[in-house]
Amino acid sequence: MVRWRALVFMAEGYCVKCKAKKEIVDGVEETMKNGRKAIKGKCPTCGTVMFKILGKAAAASAPENPTPPAA
Ligand SMILES: [Zn+2]
Repeated sequence: MVRWRALVFMAEGYCVKCKAKKEIVDGVEETMKNGRKAIKGKCPTCGTVMFKILGKAAAASAPENPTPPAA
């Protein structure tokens, strides 16, 4: 089961239909099985689904070996 996190995310992607760079709207961040993050959203002009793969270091998120929180 894929876990989705809805967020307001400003990301740029390439729309194959418009053949231009567009700002991704309605973007949601997805963490793939290999640990990489991606943004999936829509083209603001034509509504085509856009997908942008982020680098591992793009988001300063949890490390690969998170230490348990020391309460
Ligand atoms: Zn488009």
